[in-house]
Amino acid sequence: MDAVDGPVREDGEGPVDGGGTYVLFLRPRSPGRVRVGSLGALELRPGSYAYVGSGFGPGGVEARLRRHLEGGDAVHWHVDYLRRRSEPEEAWVTRDPERREHEWAAALAGLAGADVPLTGFGSSDCSCAAHLFRFGRRPTLERFSRAAARQADGEPSRIRRVYGSGRATG
Ligand SMILES: [Zn+2]
Repeated sequence: MDAVDGPVREDGEGPVDGGGTYVLFLRPRSPGRVRVGSLGALELRPGSYAYVGSGFGPGGVEARLRRHLEGGDAVHWHVDYLRRRSEPEEAWVTRDPERREHEWAAALAGLAGADVPLTGFGSSDCSCAAHLFRFGRRPTLERFSRAAARQADGEPSRIRRVYGSGRATG
């Protein structure tokens, strides 16, 4: 068995503050436009906005996701601009120690109904078109998991819903 740093969860999921990759779905409170730093304006339309990121710093993926779910006025990432105008709907996480965010961006981009609402959103440091996708109708975790597995060269991550009901909206 691999050694782990820090406390271990009772469900065997590894360190409480372990790193991982997430998808956060945000629903705008109302249509409109929001300025995203120097990147430009993001058009807010009805639907669900899926943001992909990872947390491998202090506190791991949980700390990062908690910050997004709680919201607040601080603006550090592109997604903070969107968060101020929207409400969280659902979040999916893997504790896979490999950084999966770019594969997951490709997986989301390939799902039916995915739009890229603002090129470069969340992808300043990589070659993805964006780490943000808009869906008229939020995809299911099952459909996304299959798409993510195809991107992962036969080493699929275990992905769990950690926020939201899983019920499709919109
Ligand atoms: Zn990327």
